[in-house]
Amino acid sequence: MIPTKMSDVGQSWDSLKEEMIRRGHDDAKWREGKTAVYVFNAGEDVSRVQREAYTLYMSENGLGPLAFPSLKQMEEEVVSIALHLLHGPEESTGNITSGGTDSITMAVKAARDFAREERNTPGQPNVVMPHSAHPAFDKACHMMGLEKRRIKVGKDFLADVGEMSQACDENTILIVGSAPSFPYGLSDNITALGELAESRGIWLHVDACVGGYIAPFVRMNGVDIAPFDFEVAGVYSISADLHKYGYCAKGASTVLYRSGELQKHMVFDCADWPGGRMITPTLAGTRPGGAISAAWAVMNYLGIEGYREKQKQVTEARQIIEAGVKSLGFELLGRPQLGIMAFTHSKLDVFAIYRQMYKQGWFTSLTTEPKALHLMLSPFHRTVTETYLSDLSAAMKIVEAGEIESIGEARYS
Ligand SMILES: *Cc1c(COP(=O)(O)O)cnc(C)c1O
Repeated sequence: MIPTKMSDVGQSWDSLKEEMIRRGHDDAKWREGKTAVYVFNAGEDVSRVQREAYTLYMSENGLGPLAFPSLKQMEEEVVSIALHLLHGPEESTGNITSGGTDSITMAVKAARDFAREERNTPGQPNVVMPHSAHPAFDKACHMMGLEKRRIKVGKDFLADVGEMSQACDENTILIVGSAPSFPYGLSDNITALGELAESRGIWLHVDACVGGYIAPFVRMNGVDIAPFDFEVAGVYSISADLHKYGYCAKGASTVLYRSGELQKHMVFDCADWPGGRMITPTLAGTRPGGAISAAWAVMNYLGIEGYREKQKQVTEARQIIEAGVKSLGFELLGRPQLGIMAFTHSKLDVFAIYRQMYKQGWFTSLTTEPKALHLMLSPFHRTVTETYLSDLSAAMKIVEAGEIESIGEARYS
């Protein structure tokens, strides 16, 4: 990169603002509902609450609970609500982190230190996870020198509990299940994974990053959702992202523990420097107050009724699209119940369809095993299902006519 000299004098905010808005013109058109990844659109009112609540505490720092008891209280209340939604027992606890990757990293660290201090693992510690688990686990293993064991999923695209059991040994410090996994949108059998974890005395983490704040409400709306949270005895920790289906501002997730005894293995306490004792629960030092205050505000703004309504719109959008894609000849991967769905086509190259949809203004994602189109739906998508389906049908015709080439690889960065 060519180093650029900073401008000698500052520029006016008006002109900078104009420039910034202009720069966004080529970005994904998520406000029109044509993006089904990265952004969760729960409507203009929620967006306003996020924005105003964020700016109220934008300069405050969650690193200093003594200086900002307001943030400490908001964090505790958000965590407490999360624990109530996810069947946390009385001793359960948790923290707000900066995102799913942060939550997962901290849970892996807690599990590692728990094993170090309270279990006897003679060799290099390892983590056993389904192949569908998020790369955040690989990153955490990489950073902490843990061996990762990704185990092929079953024909149902779910964690193969038998194979995972085979892969566990005396050095396994953590078993992972997803509720749901990102690539398939399907929840692993957490009850079976819980039994496995309990029988072997191993920590089970449930990655509910993308399910934790939708599944409880979908269940309240009458859908039969299998147990996936602290209701399952073997579950020691859960990650659930506020900035996904919690509809909170970005930079907010929760990492939750069955007990304070488990959570204490996450916390870092350091007094060995000239700046005084510093205790940090999560990876961050400075913690943006705005992410915490916005999460608190959105949760209380929506309430159970609000979330049920939003998640109902997601469910309806998914059901309409499910029916539509089936009639276009696609086949769904499994039976999704939450906000993510993936679907394949036996005759057409779905990566070519993806490319044509992209040309038509859609920014969505892909699953690779098998090749499938992938949607992560927001409440706002309820209003664009017909557009999506008619655009999809048009894209298929162009692919059928051989007028567009496929993309070589599914990647987004
Ligand atoms: C999004 C996601 C993550 C990672 O969360 P980030 O906030 O992007 O770091 C982890 N697991 C699953 C299942 C996810 O969907």
